[in-house]
Amino acid sequence: MSAQLFVVATPIGHLDDMSYRAIDVLKSVKLIAAEDTRQSAPLLKHYNITTPLTACHDHNEDHKIKSIIQKLQNGEDVALISDAGTPLISDPGFRLVRAAQQAGIRVTPVPGACAAVAALSSVGLPSDRFLFIGFLPSKSTQRQTQLQQLKDHTETIIFYEAPHRIVDSLEDIKTIFGEQRIVGFAREITKTFETIVQKPVAELLEWVKQDPNQQKGEIVLVVAGNPLEQDHQQDKIDELLKRLLQDLSVKSASQLAADLTGLKKKVLYQRALELEAEEN
Ligand code: SAM
Repeated sequence: MSAQLFVVATPIGHLDDMSYRAIDVLKSVKLIAAEDTRQSAPLLKHYNITTPLTACHDHNEDHKIKSIIQKLQNGEDVALISDAGTPLISDPGFRLVRAAQQAGIRVTPVPGACAAVAALSSVGLPSDRFLFIGFLPSKSTQRQTQLQQLKDHTETIIFYEAPHRIVDSLEDIKTIFGEQRIVGFAREITKTFETIVQKPVAELLEWVKQDPNQQKGEIVLVVAGNPLEQDHQQDKIDELLKRLLQDLSVKSASQLAADLTGLKKKVLYQRALELEAEEN
């Protein structure tokens, strides 16, 4: 079989969050391309992985890609890892993966930890639809512009944030999204001082300001979608269903509404039944 590029997730804190498969793959490949070889060394040592390492990060990726693709074309398997979590998720690797795909090389994910998913799965906010933004701009004007563009989104929004910017970012979210917007705060996930809470942003901001420990470590913010926009969308869906129900059965009305909106037929069917019961 021809060589593969494995994209391997590593832990985001707790070393035990490494899959058996990730260890096997890292032991068996000919080369590991790591974001920072010094950062990855302790993890590899812990699992007795002695595979040679090469640095592949944003500043040398273009130059490294050629030699890595060459190795793959010579039949040598290569693994890509980042300092923590899933490569390419606010981490380098995209250009290497794209180059491998374009060269017809098989790219195999070895999934595992990702801070965004871990935060979303534990803060208690809707997880059916979400938008991952990664890091907000560090300059305040640019950050505020981006937040303005996001404030009416109805899906849950995930941000990565640096501890020294957490207060400023929460201030901006409070000003732009409103004091009552619920924000999930997931800090130091899987580590000793893991903290996972959700509060209205004004309350969260005060709590973070009063406890300097909450301004340390690694942080994910998970912001609830705009509840007013959600209500507005529900009103529009109800309007559509009511009009369709004037001429069609519940089944046909919900099918047509699903075709027109892309929403789930089962949900629309249930809502159409409720609206019909309200009418009678
Ligand atoms: N690729 C990584 C992943 O899959 O999550 C993310 C890398 S990004 C450079 C680093 C950011 O991820 C941190 O600034 C923080 O926002 C978030 N992060 C990483 N580990 C975390 C942890 N243990 N707890 C909370 N946030 C974390």
